[in-house]
Amino acid sequence: MIPTKLQRQTLVLWLLGTLLMLTACHRPPISLSSNPIVAQPQEQSTITHPTLDSPSAMPPAIATPTKNPSPTATATSSPTPLPTVTPTATSTVTASPTATPTATASPTATPSPGPTPDGQKRALQLPILMYHYLSHPPAGADKYRVDLSVTPEHFAQQLDYLAGAGYHVITLDDLIYALTRGRPLPSKPVIITFDDGYEDFYRNAFPILKAHHMTATVFLITDFLNNNRPGYMNWAQVKKLQQAGIKFGAHSRNHADLRQRTTAYLVWQALGCTESFQAQLGEPARYIAYPSGRYDQHVVDVFHSAGYWAGLTTRQGKWHSSGRLFDLRRVRMRFTTTLPQFIWLLEHDW
Ligand SMILES: [Zn+2]
Repeated sequence: MIPTKLQRQTLVLWLLGTLLMLTACHRPPISLSSNPIVAQPQEQSTITHPTLDSPSAMPPAIATPTKNPSPTATATSSPTPLPTVTPTATSTVTASPTATPTATASPTATPSPGPTPDGQKRALQLPILMYHYLSHPPAGADKYRVDLSVTPEHFAQQLDYLAGAGYHVITLDDLIYALTRGRPLPSKPVIITFDDGYEDFYRNAFPILKAHHMTATVFLITDFLNNNRPGYMNWAQVKKLQQAGIKFGAHSRNHADLRQRTTAYLVWQALGCTESFQAQLGEPARYIAYPSGRYDQHVVDVFHSAGYWAGLTTRQGKWHSSGRLFDLRRVRMRFTTTLPQFIWLLEHDW
């Protein structure tokens, strides 16, 4: 039977339609096999353990899910993997800090309640001097290293001036008791602090302080000591200094930016420091000098509940108040600070 023209046209159309359908059905499932969503949870799960050593890796884990809704993903029939990504990512993040052996979620357990405030509001002026390196900057040092350095000669001159001008070097404990309980302070009180715990404190600063019968508080980065990081003091040196009357505070475990962190992470920082202090020095950490001066209210709340008494900032000034113990201001000492400038900084009303 010879097909009519109409039948032939119908056959051709049918064949074309069948071909189109076949190609559509046999199109490889691009969206499923090469979909990046499938791979992402595995990538994120690898962050779980490194966060213990490098907590800075944590924010990207939270950020990655926002990349997921790519156009190709929504065009296909596999939207289900999307929601599962977010919970797994966040659960690994919060789990990692609590995985540390001793950082339990009960900060109040630390036996360091601090002096009980008598309810009276107080404010006082007292310069808290802030030093970092106490040495001549090495050749080729960048501007930051230079700016953070005070030479032993300048430091000795500054302490000579303090002694000669009738200043009395006190401790942070003295300041906290004065603010919270009204305990009297000597005339012209001043506090000396060192951030980071560089080894030149032991080599250069301590002998000069000792010769002047003055004390200072050094803020330690506890993981650096635990790992014997070169350029920083070790626990043996710190113990010798403690016996000689030098005080210590925490400068976090690893000098990380503490802002916008989870409670678990901040507990890990606060209790980690205090546990190292307890183990090595026989006392808890009572003060936190925020790394690079970076902190937020969450940092204050967690360190306060972990038994810390006060927090030191890098904001400049010397007014302190009983209502703001975790916002203590300091006076920065620089490589370029001359003796007349030093005197001005001490006496200026700020
Ligand atoms: Zn620092």
